[in-house]
This record gives sequence, C-alpha cells and structure tokens, in this order.
Amino acid sequence: MASEPHLKCCVVGGGPAGIFLGYLLARSGVSVIVLEKHTDFLRDFRGDTIHPSTLQLLDELDLLDDFLPMTDFQSKQLKVSLDGKTLDGPSFAHLRTKCKFVGFVPQWDFLNLLSDKARQFPEFDLRMGTEATEAIREHGKVVGVRCKSEQGEHEVHADLVVAADGRGSTIRDATQHQVVETGVPIDALWFRLDKPEDDDGHTLAWLKAGHMLVTIPRRTHYQVAMVIRKGSFDLIKSDGIDAFRKTIGEVCPPLRDAASKLAGWDSVKLLTVQINHLTQWYEDGLLFIGDAAHAMSPMGGVGINLAIQDAVATANLLVGPLLSSTLTTDHLRAVQSRREPAARRTQRLQARMHAMLLGSNAAPDRAIAVPWYTRAIVWLFGPLLRRIAGQWIGMGFQPERIETKPADR
Ligand SMILES: Cc1cc2nc3c(=O)[nH]c(=O)nc-3n(C[C@H](O)[C@H](O)[C@H](O)COP(=O)(O)OP(=O)(O)OC[C@H]3O[C@@H](n4cnc5c(N)ncnc54)[C@H](O)[C@@H]3O)c2cc1C
Repeated sequence: MASEPHLKCCVVGGGPAGIFLGYLLARSGVSVIVLEKHTDFLRDFRGDTIHPSTLQLLDELDLLDDFLPMTDFQSKQLKVSLDGKTLDGPSFAHLRTKCKFVGFVPQWDFLNLLSDKARQFPEFDLRMGTEATEAIREHGKVVGVRCKSEQGEHEVHADLVVAADGRGSTIRDATQHQVVETGVPIDALWFRLDKPEDDDGHTLAWLKAGHMLVTIPRRTHYQVAMVIRKGSFDLIKSDGIDAFRKTIGEVCPPLRDAASKLAGWDSVKLLTVQINHLTQWYEDGLLFIGDAAHAMSPMGGVGINLAIQDAVATANLLVGPLLSSTLTTDHLRAVQSRREPAARRTQRLQARMHAMLLGSNAAPDRAIAVPWYTRAIVWLFGPLLRRIAGQWIGMGFQPERIETKPADR
C-alpha cells in the first residue's frame, strides 16, 4: 500500500475544527495533512453562525477583513417571537470583543476562505475526497491512518492523529472509544424558503401554538429549521405537506407566502440531534476534538465556535511538543483538561433547554412551549438574562486566544 512521507500531524475531517487546526499548525511550521472525505465543502444545514469569539480569533489572525464581506447578515441582538410578540433576545453589545455581533455565512464560504489562506503555508496539505477508514497502531500507539480516495488506498503516518471527523467519527469507532449519550428529545427539519423583501432578518426563533422555528438569514433565502419531537417526522408527514406549510405560516407569518411554495417532502431534510461526549479524548498518538469528542445540539448555535476553540487550544498546547518531537499523552491530556469543562457545561445547558421546551419525558403529544415560570423569570430579569445569554452564545464558557506564533520563514 502506498504511503505518504512521515508528518508531524494528520487531521481527519475538514470541518470547522479540522480546518482551523490545520491552518494554525501549518502557520507555526508544523507539517500537517488534513483529510476530508467530501470533494468540496458544499453542504447545507451544517450551521452558519460565526460568533464574536471566533470573529476575535479571525482578527488575531488578520483574517477579519477577508471574512466580514462574506457575511450574509450580522446580528447585534437576536430577537425571539413568542406567541406573536417580538421580544429582545441575547445581546452582544456589552462583549469585550472587536465584533459585537454574530456573522451569518454559508459554512462552505468560511471553510474555503480558511483553507485558501492555509495553502500559503508550505506545511499545509489538504486532501479533499480522501476518507480515513481506520487507525494504524504499532506497539499500542496510533501512528497514522489508512485512507481511500479516487487514487486508491494509502497510508498516512504522523506523530499525532487528530480526529476532527464529527459526531459520526470513523476514527472513534475504529479505535473503540465509547461515547456517553445524553438523551435528546428533539430533531430538526431543515428546508429553504425565499426571503421576503421587506424582512429585516433579526427574529431568529419563533414559538407559537406548540411549534418552534429557527430562521437563519442568507442573502437570498432563509435556511429554516423546525424543531420537532424526536421520532415525530412520520407523524408530521402523515398530516400532509399542506398542513406543514400552514403551520410554518402560522408560527412565522412573514414566511407564509414563501411557505406556500415549499415544493414537497423531498425539500425537507431530517437532521437528528445528538448530545454525547467521550470520557477520554486521547490515547497515545491520537486526540479527538470538536463534535468527535462532544457532539453538540444546535441549541444556541454554538457548536462551530466550540469546535474552533478546541482547535485553538490544541494548537496552543501542542505546537511546541510537535515541533520538538517531545509529544506525550500528558500533552494530550492537557487539551482535554482545558476544553472538556466548557464543552460539558455547554451540553448541560443545551440539555436543560431541551427539557424546558419539551419536558423531560418527551411524551409524543407534548407540544413545544416555554413554561410560565421561564416566562416569569425572563420578564423579571430580562436585561440581565440578555447579557448572560449573549455572553454564553457569543463567547462560550472558555474563550481561547491564539498563543502560537507564525513560523520564521
Ligand atoms: C441540525 C444541526 C444544526 C446546527 N446548527 C449550528 C449552527 O447554526 N451553529 C453552530 O455553531 N453549530 C451548529 N450545529 C453544531 C455544529 O454543526 C457542530 O458542532 C460543528 O459542525 C462541529 O464541527 P466539527 O469540525 O467538530 O465537525 P463537523 O462539522 O461535523 O466536521 C467533520 C468533518 O469531517 C469529515 N469526515 C467525517 N468522517 C471522515 C473520514 N472518515 N475521513 C475524512 N473526513 C471525514 C466530514 O465530512 C466533515 O466535513 C448544528 C448541529 C446540528 C445537528
């Protein structure tokens, strides 16, 4: 089997975690190959929100001026429509960052920008259309991966393999690392709707009559998610597409006309929502980050930003040992110690939000609703809660700074 020259690092997965890590390692002179199984980044419904914490990192890397013109929409304060009344939601105005807003950008544009910029570093090698199929172990240590592409099968050997291959991680299965699942009572139905011309796009979440919609603005259309009880898609389908269109129009009146043009069930994609975590993120020669270590729910839209913060912490802690060939499992443990508390706190908060909306028993006939006591708390502590929620969504529990330096070239 063909084999690549030995590298310092092999990253499996070209999502937000993998591409950001590849960029940072190569920028510091660490030879890195990033393997991405798809031939492009063009996949819809992968999450399009770039939060102030990530915008700050892009500024630290001098990439902000390239990034900002790509955003379809920037939101300084998210709004929520509850039973037809528009309420102010999380606000970012008070954050101590350069950009006090969430930028909405198609994820493929973001990943294309980062990978194009990373290609300027000679140490960066991105292989699209290349799928890692298993980990190679020698004397109990992971020393690389086997992969396949159109050119056939080959091996990549590296001092460190980083599995950033998402919540269905192949490397996790191949190395028999078990995830602990947190029960999740929701799934999401995703579809595109035309954007009404007079719409300002500021209201992101719509709750009414037992239903919840999230509308993510793009330049010409909305990506819409209907949050549903897990396993209830067949029931929804059995009511027919007209009933579905009608529900959308009732919950989100500005999209009533657009909803009436929704073609049919083929244009509605079911995305299952999961929350899980690995108890140990590493073994000798192997590290898991991003959704591969802790799959996030879409609640709060924070998964991409957490994955990127994992990548930053990984580079901060591992560039030195990788460059000096002194990497040990203690360094990998340090990455987990740094990132796990923030990931787990975020997941616990997401699980609480699920329970709040659907109750803990998720009975099939339980509607999605905001309970009276939550409404009372929001009414009493509105301004403070908007700041706290803005801090959590905007920055996360453990924002990272870039501590690595560019290589002397
Ligand atoms: C329905 C839904 C909506 C969401 N919306 C948002 C949102 O709006 N904002 C937000 O911040 N987060 C959102 N999230 C969460 C977010 O998508 C994830 O937390 C985030 O994408 C994790 O990034 P990652 O790089 O770890 O993994 P991923 O984004 O999953 O990337 C993994 C990459 O690895 C590749 N890959 C997989 N296996 C292999 C292999 N064997 N070999 C090579 N490549 C491989 C995949 O093709 C993929 O490109 C949402 C999640 C769900 C389920």
